[in-house]
Amino acid sequence: MPNFVAFQPFNTTKMEQTQIGWIGLGKMGIPMAGNLIKAGYPVSVYNRNQAKADALLQEGAAWVDSPAELIQKTAVVFLMVSDDVAVNEIFNAENGLLSNNLSGKIIVNMSTVSPQISKEMAELCQQKGASYLDAPVSGSVKQAQEGSLVIMVGGEEEPTEQVRPLFDVLGKMALRLGPTGAGNAAKLAINSLLALYALGLAETVVFARNQGVQVADLLQLLNNGALSNVFTKIKGDAILQDNYEAAFALKHIVKDLGLAKKEGLQSPLAQTAFATFEAANNQLAEEDIIAVIKTLD
Ligand code: NAP
Repeated sequence: MPNFVAFQPFNTTKMEQTQIGWIGLGKMGIPMAGNLIKAGYPVSVYNRNQAKADALLQEGAAWVDSPAELIQKTAVVFLMVSDDVAVNEIFNAENGLLSNNLSGKIIVNMSTVSPQISKEMAELCQQKGASYLDAPVSGSVKQAQEGSLVIMVGGEEEPTEQVRPLFDVLGKMALRLGPTGAGNAAKLAINSLLALYALGLAETVVFARNQGVQVADLLQLLNNGALSNVFTKIKGDAILQDNYEAAFALKHIVKDLGLAKKEGLQSPLAQTAFATFEAANNQLAEEDIIAVIKTLD
């Protein structure tokens, strides 16, 4: 009897019996893994800081002590962790994913990381007979809770289709863009616009306030006009309530702009955004992206 769970195609009536592994229980990972549990999948979880698993264990998740143990027990493993360093550790540490038998497994990395690390990890997975997908997401904690994320996928078509029922639980769409790294590249492009939106909203609010316009009035106009969008609504409310608790931590946009810069994004707007968020990061790393407003006059 092999000590790993062989991958079962998902287009069977036993789809819900597919053993799922989840690594990374931060602001996004907890609600995302929670949705898979609610959908009836058996989910095992690992997180560097074990205490963050408590709520999911109450909901029926099983705890494992390492990525190596997780890949042994499960057919599909999701990652939702901070950055390239975290991904590298989860794959390559002593008890990392690559220390175990990976044959037939699918690893889906939903973190916002570089195309480069995805290409490296995909190559290592392929050598061990496993598939790797990069599948970062657009949307924040609210969309993660609702299962309405937008998922952008890089990697082979076959594993993408095999995990599509799981993407359908996590998001409202999952689009395959091309080979490994294509999802990461799209995500970096989208987050460069996110940085410009956040900075643009913050600068607009500060300018209007300095002209004597009530912030609540300005936001009401914005949210009813042609420029209204979910981001402006949510972040506008945060500004009004002076509540900068992170949904998307400011340190993560600094990471993403840094990655986009490495991939060649050098436009004047992107450079200004990067410099502004980098300066804000000294004080506001753990606060929300829109806390950048505190650095503007
Ligand atoms: P978060 O709350 O900061 O959680 C980060 C997770 O990564 C935690 O589980 C953390 O473990 C783990 N981690 C960090 N460094 C690690 C390491 N060296 N080894 C092992 N685990 C490590 O982040 P998040 O907001 O959930 O975001 C997760 C990813 O999704 C990021 O790439 C982010 O850019 C992206 N994203 C976030 C949002 C959002 O709105 N929040 C939206 C779209 C995409 P510990 O608990 O042990 O620290």
